[in-house]
Amino acid sequence: MEAELPADRLAAVHSAIAAACRTAARTTPPTLIAISKTHDAAAIRPLIAAGQRHFGENRVQEAQAKWPALLAETPGITLHLVGQLQSNKALEAVALFDVIHSIDRPSLVTAIARAADKLGKRPTCYLQVNIGNEPQKGGCPLPELPALLSTAHSAGLAIEGLMCIPPATLEPAPYFALLAEHARRLGLPGLSMGMSSDYPTATLLGATIVRVGSALFGARTTPPPA
Ligand SMILES: *Cc1c(COP(=O)(O)O)cnc(C)c1O
Repeated sequence: MEAELPADRLAAVHSAIAAACRTAARTTPPTLIAISKTHDAAAIRPLIAAGQRHFGENRVQEAQAKWPALLAETPGITLHLVGQLQSNKALEAVALFDVIHSIDRPSLVTAIARAADKLGKRPTCYLQVNIGNEPQKGGCPLPELPALLSTAHSAGLAIEGLMCIPPATLEPAPYFALLAEHARRLGLPGLSMGMSSDYPTATLLGATIVRVGSALFGARTTPPPA
């Protein structure tokens, strides 16, 4: 039951978020990021026209190819990097993105802090947590999280919150709850969690940002790179 038009899909996602907020007695909904990876400018423009202002990409190079022109067309767009980042791409990432969700190791903290100093631009930062302790997945292991946070503070990076991608084949709710508990303990207000299949659940469990791709754009034809 996929709505046909991008504006209809956007409205459907907003109403699912609103329903979850009512259930959870939340007054402030999470920020909705439209994850536009693999989609070109022609697919993105209708969502901008419908009022969407937060967008996310998972690869620096792909974002560099399409976003500078779109950003020039419409002021007030916030661009988020949600994918793995190599330290040698930190300068390009900080130059283009307003928010970086995928900081998961001390070397990347150092690279981003250096890029921020060089560019005189401070991105909003999230620490990505490998919440399901999956060997193949990015993200900081939970036991190393407090140390990574203090490394970030020492480097002058302000960390707004935690981000996670729960194990694909398991019920996500316990992982969202676990991420929320760790953010609370660390005194971090931001929770970037929930994708197309589970953003209402993430909203129930306190997400401040949900990252939604296919529910807004339709299925991706090109498989996203890991
Ligand atoms: C692709 C992606 C999303 C969105 O995934 P959908 O299932 O299409 O909503 C969210 N977060 C990250 C990190 C992604 O790479």
